[in-house]
Amino acid sequence: MAHDLPALLYVAAGILFILALRGLSSPETARSGNRFGVIGMGVAVLTTLFILQRHHLGVWAMVIGGVALGAVPGAYIARRVQMTQMPELVAAFHSLVGLAAVLIAWAAFLAPQAFGIGEPGGIKMASVLEMSLGVAIGAITFTGSIIAFLKLSGRMSGKPILLPARHVINIALGFVLVLLIGMLMFDVQSPIVFFLLTLVALALGFLLIIPIGGADMPVVISMLNSYSGWAAAALGFTLHNMALIITGALVGSSGAILSYIMCKGMNRSFISVILGGFGGEVAAAAGAIEQRPVKQGSADDAAFIMKNAGKVIVVPGYGMAVAQAQHALKELADTLKKNGVEVKYAIHPVAGRMPGHMNVLLAEAQVPYDEVFELEDVNNEFRTADVAFVIGANDVTNPAAKTDKTSPIYGMPILDVENAKTVLFIKRSMASGYAGVENELFFRPNTMMLFGDAKKMTEEIVKAMH
Ligand code: NDP
Repeated sequence: MAHDLPALLYVAAGILFILALRGLSSPETARSGNRFGVIGMGVAVLTTLFILQRHHLGVWAMVIGGVALGAVPGAYIARRVQMTQMPELVAAFHSLVGLAAVLIAWAAFLAPQAFGIGEPGGIKMASVLEMSLGVAIGAITFTGSIIAFLKLSGRMSGKPILLPARHVINIALGFVLVLLIGMLMFDVQSPIVFFLLTLVALALGFLLIIPIGGADMPVVISMLNSYSGWAAAALGFTLHNMALIITGALVGSSGAILSYIMCKGMNRSFISVILGGFGGEVAAAAGAIEQRPVKQGSADDAAFIMKNAGKVIVVPGYGMAVAQAQHALKELADTLKKNGVEVKYAIHPVAGRMPGHMNVLLAEAQVPYDEVFELEDVNNEFRTADVAFVIGANDVTNPAAKTDKTSPIYGMPILDVENAKTVLFIKRSMASGYAGVENELFFRPNTMMLFGDAKKMTEEIVKAMH
């Protein structure tokens, strides 16, 4: 029984993780979901420490030291990070998961006897396959996530970098990868071959992510999330650790489902995403900002138009997150509702910089969930709206996605704000959004630009309404 206890506890942790994922699927249950996740992780860590008590003190010291090494900087970074930096932080953390998988696989390869999987040069075939997959997926995740981090943090241009014959190169590297794994399994278990495998996978991770343009980054994040889970699951087998297998599989499969949802949101093919070739077939985004006149309004103008409206649909975007304008927005909506105006929120699946970004911010401001609608549920309603109030959003409203085949966002469904009687855009300048594509809507006759910081401008509009 004592022998089975860790396994039972790991299963309990797995169930708590499943409950966590279930909870996180809706803003209403997200907090309790998070709690389940924390408890599950606590159970898993304590169980691992419990198993380790069989070993001598040095092992404990190493494990505690390792946990401290991760936990101290992790806690420090988590406390300091701004909400807008979350996506790049997630990408950076994914790279560490990938690196951990590579290092564990190497440890198992060089000292298999310590893992009970054979002798150096004579490792069991199944274990060779597990650690080869672990090192390959881990290395792809590592370099891919570093590129994603650089792109998301603005340290590297978000524009696609298209190497000539990149598809041929990627396919060739894929073949080499399979060949090397085959050699390790059926022929030589040499560190040189394992090193080559690591090297090829590192290169592949880099090459898969550099051609991906800004607008497609949401899919990349969820895809790398999935990869990091599969890498962990593969190594769970090598380490005979059930918790790692369950958690890795959960992360891998939920990440894959999220990638699928994101692909649908972006109208991209799932297969081409996995192969890393998407978003690059089109021309790079236009950089220059056109000098055409636009209709510019003030907070007073916006207050007047909205107060006299019957229905206002709010479209939040990344700029709302930057300005932290969600509370001011809620106040604006409350004021409108008091004046008998119907208010709805339209959320694009890739608005902001991470999946669910806008939902989290609106929930934080206590916007009622029944006023918040997904793209497909609300898009037809812009026709009947008097005002589309676009606060810090840009790409998700850009009609180039429908009309311009050369645009990097071509094919992405957008919120049809232009169908509203008046479109109000709050943003600070004429600058383009993350995808770097100019938005034709700014120049339309039914558009009014409200230049300024989203929070300040919204507060001014509220003031002007009183
Ligand atoms: P965009 O990046 O298209 O546009 C945001 C706009 O907000 C900018 O044009 C900017 O204009 C404005 N802005 C920035 N700061 C402020 C501020 N303080 N006050 C007012 N306005 C501000 O955002 P969207 O949400 O429309 O689209 C998301 C984009 O990000 C898509 O291309 C998506 O693919 C991509 N992406 C999404 C991820 C996700 O998971 N959701 C992950 C990675 C990328 P200005 O500078 O003139 O103020």
